[in-house]
Amino acid sequence: MTQEELFKKIIAHTKEYGFIFPSSEIYDGLAAVYDYGQLGSLLKNNIREYWWKSMVQLHENIIGIDSAIFMHPTIWKASGHVDAFNDPLIDNKDSKKRYRADVLIEEHLAKIEDKINKEVEKATKRFGEIFNREMFISTNPRVVEYRNKFNAVKTRFSKALNNNDLNDLKNIIEEEGIVCPVSGTHNWTDVRQFNLMFSTQMGSITEDSGTIYLRPETAQGIFVNFLNVYKTGRMKIPFGIAQTGKAFRNEIVARQFIFRMREFEQMEMQYFVKPGEEMKWFNYWKEFRKKWHLSLGIPEAKFRFHDHEKIAHYANAATDIEFEFPFGFKELEGIHSRTDFDLSQHQKFSGKKLQYFDNETNESYVPYVIETSIGLDRMFLAVLSFAYNEEKLEDGSERIVLRIPPVLAPIKIAVLPLVKRDNMPEKAYEIMNVLKFDFMCQYDEKDTIGRRYRRQDAIGTPYCITIDQQTFEDNTVTIRERDTMKQVRVLISKISEIVNEKLNLKNILNLNK
Ligand code: ATP
Repeated sequence: MTQEELFKKIIAHTKEYGFIFPSSEIYDGLAAVYDYGQLGSLLKNNIREYWWKSMVQLHENIIGIDSAIFMHPTIWKASGHVDAFNDPLIDNKDSKKRYRADVLIEEHLAKIEDKINKEVEKATKRFGEIFNREMFISTNPRVVEYRNKFNAVKTRFSKALNNNDLNDLKNIIEEEGIVCPVSGTHNWTDVRQFNLMFSTQMGSITEDSGTIYLRPETAQGIFVNFLNVYKTGRMKIPFGIAQTGKAFRNEIVARQFIFRMREFEQMEMQYFVKPGEEMKWFNYWKEFRKKWHLSLGIPEAKFRFHDHEKIAHYANAATDIEFEFPFGFKELEGIHSRTDFDLSQHQKFSGKKLQYFDNETNESYVPYVIETSIGLDRMFLAVLSFAYNEEKLEDGSERIVLRIPPVLAPIKIAVLPLVKRDNMPEKAYEIMNVLKFDFMCQYDEKDTIGRRYRRQDAIGTPYCITIDQQTFEDNTVTIRERDTMKQVRVLISKISEIVNEKLNLKNILNLNK
């Protein structure tokens, strides 16, 4: 199965089982907007909660807020979004398709990188044990040629981005012979800037003064509340403010399912530090966030750090945590050292002093900020891409199983009477009515037990408990574990303990060890 086929299957699976539906589907949908269904909303809540607990509950110096989506329009002037939150777009005149010029070039670079990797792979096979990778890369003429090309394009591309040189972006596309994937031609328009913010009107005024924006990031709601939280929470630097919530971006090309949406959710944390200490905290949060991802049991090889070529206007260091989605390694989370840019800008535009008073040195200063910013929907897609497995079993049959980390699984326990008679359904309800106070449970009595297990595998339920005749004799049930499919008999009174072992944050979220 190719990665493309796998991705299509994941999308179909999420729809079939009620994780994700296209928005407004009965009206043929709305581009790049999605709804989370009965299981999707549970999984999404669980991811949000796992993030929230690791950041807020487990750090006594990080508090959480929930700021409004609508904010004073001057905020977006101060933050730079009105003038600079642009993407360079380009149209193909033949297919009439629109692209992000930077993405076209990045994809071109990735293709050159692929060619290098293929040469290395071939040589590894050919030379076997005596293969010297470093030497091959630095001497093989074809690889050297690809590498020189890659470096030349990359350097020129970074420079064009940093200087906002739209002409040179177009020149690179033309000179590199990059064609439109749909029409196959190089018949391109010029590159133009496009602002990604959605705007709307507030109140009954229709003039310009009533124009407000739907926030394109949650971070600004944190910056403008810095003083409120610092004063009322009696916070001492370093301290953090976290929040999760909706953000909106009028993305030029919104493909790849929930990877790039026009309405999405972010989980962000701004950490306020003393100027000069930002690199220490930048490195701390890079490591911490990596450990958070690994704590879910997703293999390390699925992640990589990518330092930014183009540092945003507000930052002095920036890294992406990239995840290997079915369509390749792509940004999942950003970690940025934002200096004092945002607070200083808001100080300037609002005329309010946004400073911290250090009791020890008797000095006031504008704190520096380290930010961690992850897309909740992207995390959802990362979890699903990792979890989706098609397996051939020993008896020759096949199953689709979602190996969702148990702590995130939508349903934790399926409660199944072996048959629909002999008081088994009543007994099953009796057990579930106790368990449901602690765990999200699902009752199912339809079809054979084997088919019911398959249904639970397909939605990632880590445990199935089955009530049978013996339950009435000795108060035991069988408990089946999703990944191993092993079943053991246990006392009803032990179920909670067994399931909790896998869900207890003490076991999985002890990240500062
Ligand atoms: P990209 O380069 O993919 O457009 P970005 O660098 O603009 O992303 P940030 O502004 O750093 O993204 O936003 C932080 C996080 O928010 C991203 O790492 C991503 O997980 C998420 N995110 C950003 N844009 C979208 C979107 N359109 N749909 C879903 N998630 C998004």
